[in-house]
Amino acid sequence: MIEVNSAESRVTAEPGGSLCISLDFELMWGVRDKRTTDQYGANITGGRDAVRQMLDMFHRNDIRATWATVGLLFCETKEEMLASLPEQQPTYTDQMLSNYTYLDEVGENEAKDPYHFAPSLVAQIKACPGQEVATHTFSHYYCLEPGQTRAQFAADLDAAIKVAAKHQITFKSIVFPRNQYDESSIAECTRRGISIYRGNETSWMYRPGARADQTLARRAIRLTDSYVNLSGTNTSSVNTNMAVANVRSSRFLRPYSRRFRNLEPLRLSRITAAMTAAARHGETFHIWWHPHNMGANQSENLDTLRRIIDHFITLRCEHGMCSLAMEDFAPRSG
Ligand SMILES: [Zn+2]
Repeated sequence: MIEVNSAESRVTAEPGGSLCISLDFELMWGVRDKRTTDQYGANITGGRDAVRQMLDMFHRNDIRATWATVGLLFCETKEEMLASLPEQQPTYTDQMLSNYTYLDEVGENEAKDPYHFAPSLVAQIKACPGQEVATHTFSHYYCLEPGQTRAQFAADLDAAIKVAAKHQITFKSIVFPRNQYDESSIAECTRRGISIYRGNETSWMYRPGARADQTLARRAIRLTDSYVNLSGTNTSSVNTNMAVANVRSSRFLRPYSRRFRNLEPLRLSRITAAMTAAARHGETFHIWWHPHNMGANQSENLDTLRRIIDHFITLRCEHGMCSLAMEDFAPRSG
């Protein structure tokens, strides 16, 4: 675990604390190594619909959010996609992790293949006030998986920057896929003007690592932590005095679970209690999820988000809590 922020020089952005929201926007590219379109396609198309509803909710309530978008989604056609591929591609030991393995599944364009293209949604996000389009790498790149090299990651980032430039988008922030990062991958980003990233929670259970390190026991403990307070509030003060800013994650907003539906009030109160703590202590509560997490059980998931936003509105009135995107934490020296 790397520690970029030092406790001595903490900076509190807002006296009433802040709520930071980030979304990992990836469609099938974020899940293809685990699931096929037949298995998960309905969640993806439901997630597209959820994007529009979230944008509407954010707009109506003056909520900022960062949309960390996979570069492949910016492409208009398969032809453009193939022409935009990086010069070097990841040589993961497990090649099933590489999204380039699945290029033959990709259709002609967004209208014909809503699972792999999203230029229309990128345009809607960009046009919605207060929304930041950030990067989630070009290919959903895994920085800690064995077999890949730093040069391959650099080439991936360059491809992401290039395709976004066609949409007049310049990245300031990154969310690393599967939250895999280390000092050298962060350095590749800062070299390219991307100086804000979402770090993991400090507790050992959220330590970044390759897939093989994420044991079943660790995943089970993280699941429990969503309902019961095991790791604390995970709120933080973001240090903006360094060359790079770590806007540390406080919580992954897990999708609604029918199996654990009786525990839903606990899941929500775990979040709202941490938000209240952030407002009281002038800290940041950073919550994130994937749009496809809201693709199934859409009304339950959007209802949870509505309750979180309602709680934020109360904290905004009572404490002056702010809604911030990751780019609002840009380092002063950057
Ligand atoms: Zn992802």
